[in-house]
Amino acid sequence: MKTQRPKILIIYTGGTIGMIEDVVKHTLQPFDFSHLIDNVPKVKMLDYDIDNIQFHPPIDSSNMSPRHWKEIASAIEKHYDDYDGFVVLHGTDTMAYTASALSFMLENLSKPVIITGSQLPIGEVRTDGEENLITALQVAAATDRNGVAIVQEVAILFENHLWRGNRSTKMSADNFNAFKSNNYPELARIGLGITFHPEVLYHATSPRGLKVRYEMDPNVMVLTLHPGITEGTLRYQLNTPGIKGIVLRTYGAGNCPSEPWFLNLIHETTARGVVIVNVTQCVNGGVNDTLYETGSQLNLSGVISGHDITCEAALTKLMYLFGLGLSPKQVKQCMNCALRGEVSL
Ligand code: ASP
Repeated sequence: MKTQRPKILIIYTGGTIGMIEDVVKHTLQPFDFSHLIDNVPKVKMLDYDIDNIQFHPPIDSSNMSPRHWKEIASAIEKHYDDYDGFVVLHGTDTMAYTASALSFMLENLSKPVIITGSQLPIGEVRTDGEENLITALQVAAATDRNGVAIVQEVAILFENHLWRGNRSTKMSADNFNAFKSNNYPELARIGLGITFHPEVLYHATSPRGLKVRYEMDPNVMVLTLHPGITEGTLRYQLNTPGIKGIVLRTYGAGNCPSEPWFLNLIHETTARGVVIVNVTQCVNGGVNDTLYETGSQLNLSGVISGHDITCEAALTKLMYLFGLGLSPKQVKQCMNCALRGEVSL
């Protein structure tokens, strides 16, 4: 049984939660951590030992990049044995990408990494930031009766829900419930209390300790189909120099145009060894590329199914797999496996 106070490390990267208004430009800009925490005196009411580190300078998450993911992952690795859990404060715009990336980078994670932020800055009267921060700290500190961390994965805490990080998508630019995992149940419901759903929580199967994979190969991209897409545009994008992996956002259950020029271009690209993953543009449901003729043609052209994976998770998974130095064939095999609970197979 654990009796000590929970030890939590807050990693503040920036985002609206810590922003204040620039008096000249009247735009929101990231501000330092002391300002943020001064606005949440209630944090001191939690009987936790809390330390913090911050990005210098804190950033709007639109500027997030693999370099910043490395910085977050490195902070977690460096302090892994010193804390019971980690709370990452992050802008909402690219939060789902960061959550997905970290889920792959942090192999054999067995402690909570809870990412949160807010829609309104923490200094505002009606802010959602205060509640999100406090609940994130509570989730990061939550243990079962044996003192074992309840959450052992990267998760997004926002308003009423705790979601698996690599299943989440930002759904709203102005609703307090900004995130949703459309193809996977919530990990916990936040109401009067925090109700965890143990049956859907992820647990690493390897007994080995944390292993951080820092290399994320940026030679990947997202390509969205739309009616009227031209051969010239598509050819240009598919021939991007150095490209290794493409997330192809298709229609419905994974469908695409059946015109020969389109399928030939796709086939030429996969034949060159570029890994193309079929992910639906729909927010809910996944690819079933044997349902329609228009989908099965992609399959025959060497495109692999992303099943019900999110675009954010597919992209960062490709970065991670190519970062490991795997061959296109190995990457394809791994895209067909659930590595961190990111896809239902
Ligand atoms: N632009 C902000 C960011 O992502 C939005 C937010 O935090 O909600 O950093």
